[in-house]
Amino acid sequence: MTIAVNIATINQRIRSAAEKAGRDPSTVRLVAVSKTRPAADISMAFQAGQVLFGENYIQELVPKLTEVREAVQWHVIGHLQSNKVKYIAGQVAMIHSVDRASLATEIDRQWGKLGKVCDVLIQVNISGESTKSGTTEEGAVQLVRECSLLPNIKIKGLMTMPPFFDDPEAARPYFAGLRRLAGVVAAAQIANVEMGELSMGMSGDFEAAIQEGATLVRVGTAIFGER
Ligand SMILES: *Cc1c(COP(=O)(O)O)cnc(C)c1O
Repeated sequence: MTIAVNIATINQRIRSAAEKAGRDPSTVRLVAVSKTRPAADISMAFQAGQVLFGENYIQELVPKLTEVREAVQWHVIGHLQSNKVKYIAGQVAMIHSVDRASLATEIDRQWGKLGKVCDVLIQVNISGESTKSGTTEEGAVQLVRECSLLPNIKIKGLMTMPPFFDDPEAARPYFAGLRRLAGVVAAAQIANVEMGELSMGMSGDFEAAIQEGATLVRVGTAIFGER
């Protein structure tokens, strides 16, 4: 019951934040981050109308692919090792965390075997923190160019994870930075590349992210409780 209430509350907050920013609320999608949560919680969220789920760890996602019987859509949002890609080939709708050409090449190879195309986002380390994954801001256009040549991946936009702050307003400059970078990439007009998606914002700061242009917000704790 709590999960259903939380999802309704988050969706209402997403709508308000979008409207406040003068945006159409339907341009913002909620990714329910279900890492460490059992399949039963995911089924409960699906019953409450939630379709998109984000997972960080492949060893956790793989059993859930069969345990969760509902027609959910899976997004991979965490750091991904190339040797794990084969376990999820063709089974996830989007990978948010492409941060290097070697990973993109392996995704392309595995999806190619199935004759399918994988939607991906390029993860950018906007803050430059050494503990964070993601390509550098300076390296982003070059990485997009390299990935754009791979026929079985389709770049849909960018993703970032700012430093953790207690004050959501402190994350706002990083969200604005990702949006500006998407503009720079879009202006380069690289064939086979779209910059329509910005994956940014989590439980503590998704409203600021929406005001800065987020189209995918990744919310875990505020839906499923503390991990
Ligand atoms: C865990 C995680 C989230 C969700 O964080 P919450 O604070 O629980 O909402 C979002 N994005 C990524 C990449 C994560 O690892």
